[in-house]
Order: sequence, then C-alpha cells, then structure tokens
Amino acid sequence: MNGDNGVQLYSAHARELKFTQQHKIRKFIEQDCVQYVPVSEGGGYWIVHHIPGYNSTDYEVRQNRQFEFECNCQGWVTKHRMYQREPNGNNNPSCSHVGAVFEWLKRHNIERKRETVMIKLTEFCTGARA
Ligand SMILES: [Zn+2]
Repeated sequence: MNGDNGVQLYSAHARELKFTQQHKIRKFIEQDCVQYVPVSEGGGYWIVHHIPGYNSTDYEVRQNRQFEFECNCQGWVTKHRMYQREPNGNNNPSCSHVGAVFEWLKRHNIERKRETVMIKLTEFCTGARA
C-alpha cells in the first residue's frame, strides 16, 4: 500500500525470523565455530566464534552449577535475568551458543569417547545434581 518501503522492511524481518536458533546452531557446527580452550591453557571453557557474514562477536560458554552452561551473550544474560525474577516460569536461560556447545559435545562424545573433557564434564554434571 505505501510502496516499496513496507515490502523491504517485511522481507528483512522475514529473513531474520528464518534464521532460527536451530539453524544458527547448525551453522556454528558447520563452520567449526566451537573451540574448547583446555584448562591447561588457562581455559576450561568454550569460545563460540561468530558465523562469518552473519555476526561479528565471539562469545564464551562456561559450565555453570545451576544451569549446566552459561554464556556471556545478551540473549543469555537477558533470559537469566528473567529467570531470576521468575524462577518457576519454565524459562531456563539458553541461547544458540550454549546449544552449539551441546551439539559440539555430542559429536565429540561420539568421535573421541575417551577424551578427558567428557569425563570431567560427566563428573561435573553428577556433582551438580548431588
Ligand atoms: Zn550465547
């Protein structure tokens, strides 16, 4: 009705919507964006590098006693704040970066079953529930 502007805005929005969390997680894995920094190198966390051409910020995902993982991206931090306000609202904080680390762990568990990272993670998860 009011010309090209509306159409343009609509398609930009639609494109954004199409880029869902699952799609993003797949991209992170495909582009090999997930990198584990070993404890021996001062790490013990994952860096989720940005998807080339989509975004430009790298985020850090760490193990978290309460939620298993935490991320320093805006999405996770916002959801965490919501969770703190309403802990029973079934809104456990999560984001595509944490999702990508889960996916990475799944693959590495299959590919390198005896990797100490996995053993440590299992111990961590068991300890967190106790
Ligand atoms: Zn994140």
